Amino acid sequence: MQSPILARSPSTPKPSLWRDELRQAFRQPGPLLDFLGLSRAQLSLPDAQPFPMLVPRAFAARMEQGRADDPLLRQVLPDPGELESVPGFVADPVGDAASRRHRGLLHKYHGRVLLITTGACAVHCRYCFRQSYPYASDHFDEAGLDHLIEYLLEHPEVEEVILSGGDPLMLDTRRLQGLTDRLRAVGSLRRLRLHTRLPIVLPSRIDEELLAWLQSLPWSTVVVVHANHAREFDADVDRAMARLRGAGAVLFNQSVLLRGVNDDEQAMIALMQRSFEAGVVPYYLHLLDRVEGAARFECDRRTALRLLDVMRRRLSGYLVPRLVREEAGAPYKLPVL
Ligand SMILES: *Cc1c(COP(=O)(O)O)cnc(C)c1O
Ligand code: SF4
Repeated sequence: MQSPILARSPSTPKPSLWRDELRQAFRQPGPLLDFLGLSRAQLSLPDAQPFPMLVPRAFAARMEQGRADDPLLRQVLPDPGELESVPGFVADPVGDAASRRHRGLLHKYHGRVLLITTGACAVHCRYCFRQSYPYASDHFDEAGLDHLIEYLLEHPEVEEVILSGGDPLMLDTRRLQGLTDRLRAVGSLRRLRLHTRLPIVLPSRIDEELLAWLQSLPWSTVVVVHANHAREFDADVDRAMARLRGAGAVLFNQSVLLRGVNDDEQAMIALMQRSFEAGVVPYYLHLLDRVEGAARFECDRRTALRLLDVMRRRLSGYLVPRLVREEAGAPYKLPVL
């Protein structure tokens, strides 16, 4: 029997608004710069893009017109520096390869496994540590689903499945449903977690069908979104978050400390406050993973610790994120001290 997660439905799925929106996304720097009223002379662009640009219009609409150093633009605009090799910046900085159990299945930390459900995202973040992940050969497929169920039955200490990617919400809801239908056979499962940037960059993805699916799940559900700047939140994002909470999900935000985006006190404090106003509790602030092409985003550790100290002095305890870094072989994301 075919696994439902990948089986194409014989009936044509009804066209979804968010898919339409994604088709309209900016895929070339030129039109995005035109949209922002920026001239091509103001910014240097690379000739080639090994990691293609992708920016949904809903996200571009939150950028400031005419501002070449806009913190949202900086996260997504290709830069010539990406093509240079910088010592210490490598293809697999977090040692994912070593925790791979099956195709698309990573078991790195106790009690939870992470699934690479797809390589697709709705936005391409220039600092992403998974940009050189071998998605084509290592994401979830039918055989993977059988192996996953088998693996979970053999490892009852695993209580949580994390759907990651890429972005799991790039899958159609019926495919997510196919996956969770199979997971119901695993009695030891208590939580389902989604790691997704779609509620931020493409809030129309949080549609009725998705909410109905979330609400139908027998486990506690956690959605970890990813925003790096207060301006990534707007009224549509607030609505998407409210709907996710209405469907019973607990919402957290993880951010990456990025030079020129959020590496100052005001930006960081505003991000934590704004996130909470959207009903999303700050979770992690990651130091940049040193992936090839991302050197321009790196902040030094002193800056990171200073920002953490300022947040502790100025914010309620629950608004202060955990400052962490990923290290190959470590049993958890290491606090930065
Ligand atoms: C980050 C991560 C997790 C989740 O870790 P938490 O500390 O529970 O958020 C799980 N698996 C992998 C491979 C990860 O990188
Ligand atoms: S949405 Fe997440 S996985 Fe996708 S490119 Fe951005 S950081 Fe990477």
